[in-house]
Amino acid sequence: MLRFAPSPTGDMHIGNLRVAILNYLVAQQQAKSFLVRIEDTDTKRNIEGKDTEIMQILEKFALPHASVFHQSEHLHMHQTLAIKLLEEDKAFVCTCSAEALDAQKAQAKAHKVAYRYSGRCHDTPKSAHATLKASGIPFVIRIKKPIESIVNHDHIKGDIRTAPHEVDSFVILRTDGSPTYNFACACDDMLSGISLIIRGEDHLSNTPRQIHIKTALGYEQETSYAHLPIILNTLGKKLSKRDDASSVQWLFEEGFVPDAIINYLLLLGNSKVPKEIFTLPESLAWFNLQSISKSSAQFDIKKLRFINREHLKMMDDKALSTLFGFADVHIGKLAKLYLEEASTTKELSDKIQAIFTPKDFEGEWGVQMRILETLIQEAPMFADFKDFTSYLTEGSKLQEKQLFKPLRVLLTGADHGPEISEIYPLMKAYLLEVAS
Ligand code: GLU
Repeated sequence: MLRFAPSPTGDMHIGNLRVAILNYLVAQQQAKSFLVRIEDTDTKRNIEGKDTEIMQILEKFALPHASVFHQSEHLHMHQTLAIKLLEEDKAFVCTCSAEALDAQKAQAKAHKVAYRYSGRCHDTPKSAHATLKASGIPFVIRIKKPIESIVNHDHIKGDIRTAPHEVDSFVILRTDGSPTYNFACACDDMLSGISLIIRGEDHLSNTPRQIHIKTALGYEQETSYAHLPIILNTLGKKLSKRDDASSVQWLFEEGFVPDAIINYLLLLGNSKVPKEIFTLPESLAWFNLQSISKSSAQFDIKKLRFINREHLKMMDDKALSTLFGFADVHIGKLAKLYLEEASTTKELSDKIQAIFTPKDFEGEWGVQMRILETLIQEAPMFADFKDFTSYLTEGSKLQEKQLFKPLRVLLTGADHGPEISEIYPLMKAYLLEVAS
C-alpha cells in the first residue's frame, strides 16, 4: 500500500503534487493500492476547504485512490497506541513544564549544541499516568529513545543511520491528548500497512522517529522510503509559496494542462528517461525511483512551456476546442495552428477569442476591412481558399498586401499569425460571425 498524505494547511504546490504522482505511479507499478490521508491533526493550521481542493486537484490529474480518510478520524486509535507504549514501558509520562524545556532549549542554543531532552521524567512509573490524569496536572507522553541506531534504507538517499541520542525521547501525545505529527503519521502508516513512503526530503529528519515508533509498536513489516530532493526556483532557492509557479492552481490559471505538468514533474531530476514527452501511463513501463538524482532540481518554466506545447499538439482536437467554449474539431485544429507562437491554453484562448471578438475598424486597415466585410457578408460559401480570395480580389480590386493584411486582421483580429490559407478552411463555417 502507498499513500499521499497532504496537510490541508495551504494551497497544493508542485512539490506535493510530485509526491502524489510518484506514489500513485509506483503503486501502479507494484500493483498496490494508493490511498489518500488528509493530515488534519494540526487544527490551528488547517484551512477550511483545502481538503476538498486537494481532492479536486487529484481528480484533475486523474490520480484515482482506493480510499481517503482524515487523520483526525483516528484520534482514538492514536491515543490507545500511546497508552499501549506507556503500559509496555516504552514510553513515559513527562511533567516538565514548557518554561523549563524552553530554558533548556535556549541554553543549548547559546552553547551551539543540539537540544536533547534532559531525561528528567524518563523513569517515572507508568502508574503515574492515572494519578496525573485524576489530579489534572498537565503532562505529555514521550516515547523512550531507541537503544540502537535507526537505519533508513532510502531509495534515493541511500542508507541513513541515526544514533539513539539523535532520535531522543520525544513527545508522542501532547498535554491536550492530541498526537504529534510523527506519532499520528507512524501509527497511520502502520495501520494502513504502508510499504513504501515517497515524500519530500524536508521529512528526512522525521523518518528515524517514525521508524522507531513503528518498531516500538511491534510492527514487523519493513517500510522503505524515498525522500525526494527539493525543487529550487530560478534564483537557486527552495521553491516556496512566494514563487507563483509553485502553486498548482496558478499553473492551471496560466493554461498548463495536467498531462504536461505530470510529464514535467516526472522529468525533474530524473536522469534516465527514454524520451522527453510522455504520458503517465507510458511512464509505468520504465519509471524507476532510483533514477531520481540525490541533489535538488531546478524548476524551469521554459521547459514546462515546451512540454505543455507538445501535449497540446497531441490533444484530441474536439477536447481542445471545449477549452474555448466549442465542441468542434475544426476549432481544435485552428487552435493548434497557433502553437507556433503560443504554449498554453490561456495563450491559445486569447488567439481564439481575438478571432471571435468584433473587429476594430478604426486601425490602419479599417477602410479595406469594411470593403472585405461587406463582400464576405454577401458571399456564397467557398470551400476553397483560392476561390474565396479570387472572389474578394474581384469584388474589392484589392491585391497582395492591400488584400491580405486587412483580411488577416478582419479574420483573426491580429496583424500576424499562421497562414490565412491554413486558417480559412478551419473557420469558414463561422465566417459571417468572424468577419465583422
Ligand atoms: N502531511 C505531510 C506534508 O504535507 C506529509 C507527511 C508524509 O508524507 O509523511 O508535508
